[in-house]
Amino acid sequence: MNGSRPILIRNVDVLTASEKFRADILVVGEKIHTIGVDIPTENCEIIDGSGLTAMPGGVDVHTHFDLPMFGTVSSDDHYTGHKAAAFGGTTTVIDFVPLDKPTLEESIAAWREKADPKAAIDFSFHMNISRWNETIAREIPRLVDWGIPSIKVFTAYNNRLRISDGEIFSAMRIAKEYGILTMLHAENGDVIETLVQEALSQGKTTPEWHAHTRPSWGAVEATLRGIALAAQSGAPLYIVHMNAGGEVDQLAYGREKGVPVMGETCPQYLFFTVEHLRRPDGAKWVCSPPMRTPEDNERLWQGLAQGILQTVGTDHCPFFYDGTRPILYEGKPIAIPGKELGKDDFTKIPNGLPGVGDRLPILWTYGVRTGKISENQFVALNCTNPAKIFGLYPQKGALLPGSDADIVLWDLNKKLTYGVAVAQHRTDYNLYEGWELVGYPVKVFLRGQLIVDGDQWLGKAGQGRFLKRTPGTVL
Ligand SMILES: [Zn+2]
Repeated sequence: MNGSRPILIRNVDVLTASEKFRADILVVGEKIHTIGVDIPTENCEIIDGSGLTAMPGGVDVHTHFDLPMFGTVSSDDHYTGHKAAAFGGTTTVIDFVPLDKPTLEESIAAWREKADPKAAIDFSFHMNISRWNETIAREIPRLVDWGIPSIKVFTAYNNRLRISDGEIFSAMRIAKEYGILTMLHAENGDVIETLVQEALSQGKTTPEWHAHTRPSWGAVEATLRGIALAAQSGAPLYIVHMNAGGEVDQLAYGREKGVPVMGETCPQYLFFTVEHLRRPDGAKWVCSPPMRTPEDNERLWQGLAQGILQTVGTDHCPFFYDGTRPILYEGKPIAIPGKELGKDDFTKIPNGLPGVGDRLPILWTYGVRTGKISENQFVALNCTNPAKIFGLYPQKGALLPGSDADIVLWDLNKKLTYGVAVAQHRTDYNLYEGWELVGYPVKVFLRGQLIVDGDQWLGKAGQGRFLKRTPGTVL
């Protein structure tokens, strides 16, 4: 692809968060120049878009690449994870920076050092606030200058990531003052600690106990707690990976009261239940928060359809199922210790799942085609809303003149059987193994560069750019 020549995508169905129409899209350099009809073709590289649908590149605001955990590391790094995202139609990701260094600044610098040379799509960061003191409090406002106007706090993982309710309240007040969005992992850490100790002392060590020791009432209660903290601080709050129907009810309640609270769910909470953890290979489904019940799945779908939830992220944090057996990745064998670390103790199973590449194709077939959400909602939830909330719109998440030419051309009639052989994650399993799909991305552009063409990878490490974000919008 010659990057200097304008690209004209002709006769394509343009699908956005609010419309669908047929048009031509003219890309000049890195940007969408014009969307219209009968755009002159001279000097352009022409792509015939007939029969295809153009959507904005997906924006996944919840990933964990190259994240150390339980003596191993999530198996996708900032290259392999970005590549998998691109094949699934996602061109922007936001990863979480662990507070591993004495200061936020040093922690971010360390994460940039890992990500910058590998990045294959555009990316940004959120900052975990998993420790509280005067220095951290004073440093939070500087996140705005660094283009990272979002922090994440936890009400679970005692003695590891959790800070107290009072500290969360203080962080939210500072965040509000500077236009920083607070994100919340909502579970009850104290109850979890108690139940885990009890289960282990009773010899209950199988993967399903991961779910039993993290009850959904704890998520519901912590969600309401977060909403109450938002109401009392006046600060906006974004609740990550909502997994329980009761959380949706609480979010609806808070929003009805005018509290600036928003919610995200992830595909795994829409399709799977605690039953999956009971399978012999149940460790594949171990993530936190855990899978719930079919009623929870249903209420989350309603939450998406009714606009109570604003986004779908993935919480992509993959591990090998059997990290003793190498897979071939780009022709080279690789094995990374994974779920087998917890085969005798669910508390040692690395928490997390692959998903960054699955999100869009799975939700298209099993969300849009099943009538659970509309085509426009699909774009809103996966592309446009996340870009707006996290201060990337209209550069990202939109097909508009002036937007980055992150364009995904879908063949909505393409049929395939999905699974680990199709998904490009660097792991040895896929949660959607054998699922039949109708509709798949066939060409993916990042800022005007074709990076995925069918099953061909044209992207490269280092081509992804760090996105300095501005404070976003409360939806
Ligand atoms: Zn996460």
